[in-house]
Amino acid sequence: MAKKKASTPQSFQRISVASGDGIGPEIMNAVLDIFNAADVPLTYEMVHMGKHWFEQGHSTGMTEDAKDSIETNGILFKGPMETPKGKGMKSLNVTARKMWNTYANRRVFKTLHGVDTVYSKAGIPINLTIIRENIEDTYGGIEHMLTRDVALGRRFITREGSRQVHKFAFEMARKEGITKVFCGHKANIMKLTDGLFLDVFYEVAKDYPEIKTADIIVDDLAMKLVVKPQDFQMVILPNLQGDIISDLCAGLVGGLGFAPSANIGDNICIFEAVHGTAPDITGQNKANPTALLMSGLMMLRHLGIMKQASIIENALLYTLEKGIHTGDFGDKSVTSKSTNEFAKAIISNLGQVPKKGKAKEMENSESLFKKPVKPEIQKMLTSPKLEKEAILGMDLFIESEKQANEIAAQVKLKLHPGLKLVMISNRGTQVWPSSSIFTECVNQYRIRIEGTKGLRLNDTDVLALATLLSKSLKICSVEMLNLYGEKRGYSLAQGQ
Ligand code: ATP
Repeated sequence: MAKKKASTPQSFQRISVASGDGIGPEIMNAVLDIFNAADVPLTYEMVHMGKHWFEQGHSTGMTEDAKDSIETNGILFKGPMETPKGKGMKSLNVTARKMWNTYANRRVFKTLHGVDTVYSKAGIPINLTIIRENIEDTYGGIEHMLTRDVALGRRFITREGSRQVHKFAFEMARKEGITKVFCGHKANIMKLTDGLFLDVFYEVAKDYPEIKTADIIVDDLAMKLVVKPQDFQMVILPNLQGDIISDLCAGLVGGLGFAPSANIGDNICIFEAVHGTAPDITGQNKANPTALLMSGLMMLRHLGIMKQASIIENALLYTLEKGIHTGDFGDKSVTSKSTNEFAKAIISNLGQVPKKGKAKEMENSESLFKKPVKPEIQKMLTSPKLEKEAILGMDLFIESEKQANEIAAQVKLKLHPGLKLVMISNRGTQVWPSSSIFTECVNQYRIRIEGTKGLRLNDTDVLALATLLSKSLKICSVEMLNLYGEKRGYSLAQGQ
């Protein structure tokens, strides 16, 4: 582990730094050069993470030393990282966010003078924050092939995970003077998952009465962001929708070169650019370091290093205002700068102040950040148990190429009088007891069985029934039909 800038360690906060893959080392060097020139009071502990470490046999893509360093320092400043493809390895970028529970991904998109866009030319200012839930959703990465033709992915949305991200967002809104917060979702289709995310949004919002709230279906949000981006100050979204919408927002302010992000958790925080490793321009000294630099500025402010953050931000804005640019943006009639030249221009402009959009000059403050204290055990996020919780039945996923009525006849023969076959669906559409002859099927059905006359089941009953039916059906998976209070914990089939 290489150590940089060890000279005055006492007042210097120690952070872990991973340069990353692709353009990562080029842009990280540029940013650290700017930080050093501005006398940023940080000590950098360089850690080993990325493609090379996967290839060396580290299944998570990082060494134990790297993990120890990050868990001790609590702050990781990282470049983009590549995960070797086709070897079943999980993305290191996602693993890092998930294993250290950085539940909120804050991405800020602002009009930058000197970075021309359709909106800046039309005089439409953009200052928009996306808070993306960072742990759950399809990023749980739970996928199975149920049959040779049918893949099924699962999507986690949890009450307490949602609460963490909504609370963070409202706290941030209060601190930044944001007057209206939107929750983006697709709860009209995903009633239980996105429905839960939305319920918790409104529950948390009650503690912030001064902030206006609204919810918006994500497809409508995508359209409105393009048509009237100035109407939005902050939008909170589940993980996958947040990922897609934030790339859209990057496009509004000039592209991925200007999209910084902070992954915030209670113990560990990770600061990184939104863009990836840009393999098409790697090693050419032409990558734009602005997004990583702006991520670094979010990190400095998180650590209370306000003074250097505003000096660097003003130097960056002044440089952009002067029309100095890398190849991915700016006036094409003006020769573009290399990554190094662009960084040098910012360094030479330290102390300068832009005409427009000047960063507020502030003195360094006490860091809000506290070094992580290792807990004895992993924290359990849970809400109070409900009085009434019961199992009403089961969904049995089977592989079959038969017609639904044949399957129904087969199942009914095996059920005792306390149980009834409620419906059979294929790809989520009901195909028994009623359906359309035009509904096309694949070789995987879901059979829903429920207790009659208020009969409640337990997990042993469900497994015994699955075992009984497995004698005549090929079972792929079993799911409980739960009741929580008065609420059904499962969705109806389309057409049920
Ligand atoms: P990855 O697989 O790591 O996500 P990618 O190429 O799929 O890589 P990005 O790295 O985000 O995705 O790149 C998308 C496009 O944006 C590429 O054409 C790339 O060159 C460009 N790009 C990304 N980051 C920068 C940057 N910092 N400066 C200039 N161009 C960039």
